Amino acid sequence: MNKSDSERLESGLKQLGLEAVELPEQADVVVMNTCVVRQAAEDTATGMLGKLKPVKQAHPDRIIAVMGCMVGPKHDDLKRRFPQVDVWARPQEFDAILRAVGGKVGVDAEGCLSNLVPAEPHIATYVPIVHGCDKFCTFCIIPYRRGREVSRSVDELVHECGVLVARGVREVTLLGQNVDSYGHDLRPRQDLADLLEAIEAVDGLERIRFLTSHPNDMSSRIIQAVRDLPKVCENVNLPFQAGDDKVLADMRRGYTRGQFMDKIAEIRQTVPGVTLTTDLIVGFPGETAAQFEQSLDLLEAVRFDKVHAAMYSERPGTVASRRMPDVLPQAEKKRRLAAVNDVQERVQTELNAAYMGREYDVLIDGRTRGRMQGRTRGDKLVYINPEPAGQEIATRNGGGAHEIGDMVRLKITASSPWSLEGTDVGLARSLAPDLRKSECVGEKSKVGATAV
Ligand code: SF4
Repeated sequence: MNKSDSERLESGLKQLGLEAVELPEQADVVVMNTCVVRQAAEDTATGMLGKLKPVKQAHPDRIIAVMGCMVGPKHDDLKRRFPQVDVWARPQEFDAILRAVGGKVGVDAEGCLSNLVPAEPHIATYVPIVHGCDKFCTFCIIPYRRGREVSRSVDELVHECGVLVARGVREVTLLGQNVDSYGHDLRPRQDLADLLEAIEAVDGLERIRFLTSHPNDMSSRIIQAVRDLPKVCENVNLPFQAGDDKVLADMRRGYTRGQFMDKIAEIRQTVPGVTLTTDLIVGFPGETAAQFEQSLDLLEAVRFDKVHAAMYSERPGTVASRRMPDVLPQAEKKRRLAAVNDVQERVQTELNAAYMGREYDVLIDGRTRGRMQGRTRGDKLVYINPEPAGQEIATRNGGGAHEIGDMVRLKITASSPWSLEGTDVGLARSLAPDLRKSECVGEKSKVGATAV
């Protein structure tokens, strides 16, 4: 979400005539977009603000702005601690920054405020569809900083996706802290399935993903949309956070382990070959060793394709911070995190090995250390083997070399827990939507049969 916010602000700043520079020390305007979801992220932000103090003292005319989750509804304390900051902006409140910069460069920022679609988007880009969160999990600071859920309209989002495609985008990831609750505040009421269907119709768009789901709000209708809409990728991120019912209740997640497993079963039954990722917290206050074992047990039972695991980090202002002392030693939290990573490395090794020798459509989205890389519909990272000199495959772009934005057909030749490698089988093309869906389901059912 922060990355998307930064891209949008960048678009507004460019409309005001600004250009990006490499280092904050070189900039006339420095905007720091902050995350405070864990203490380490907040420490990074405050450390960086400290480094900007001498820059502001040496160049008082420069503008320093802070936006994002660090800026709550009340931030007088921050203003006192960091007088070098000129503008404080809450998440997605770009106006204050654009107006301050507009004043500095002598341009009326009004025209920029309603047109913050990224000007030069990546071919796979993020689109926020619902801001804020109404869930109030006891460990989470997000609802206090990003506020209550506010959905953007279907028409606005369809228009924005069309603009992004015209600017070269081929894949969008629809974002929400709880993306499945999209549309409940709209009149007439809409849901994520309605939006997916509307965005499916955007010409030129190849793939649609969405993040992050909540087990209680991921309805059968949404799951069926993933199955039925050709452009919607069969990849679901469904955080479970803890495998023990008492810990889940203390977190106020609103579901039991059994209900979570039922949701996983429904997704797998409805969407053949679906890949699943999840989020997990280890060392929540009061989590015993036996309760933690329940999280490991759930990982073994589900066999996720990827897990984002984090050690519990107390966030002042949350219910957990007020009522549940964070007394578990850091060493024990680290041991639990290492145990999660060990299980997951083995599971991912086995799951990814099942991709060997099979063919997948990969959308090329970048280059790392001289090798092109891309993602399957299931969001597997694939590095593309270079073609032998003189035997290059003709690509969509007519040349011999792959380019970012190409859809290529790859045969998987190597696997690791974290990525795959593949060789172009010479079928680079844009598939017709119906063919694309049926091929994906076919390839994924083979993977499921081998791996699970
Ligand atoms: S659903 Fe997600 S964003 Fe909302 S309170 Fe819970 S953890 Fe935080």
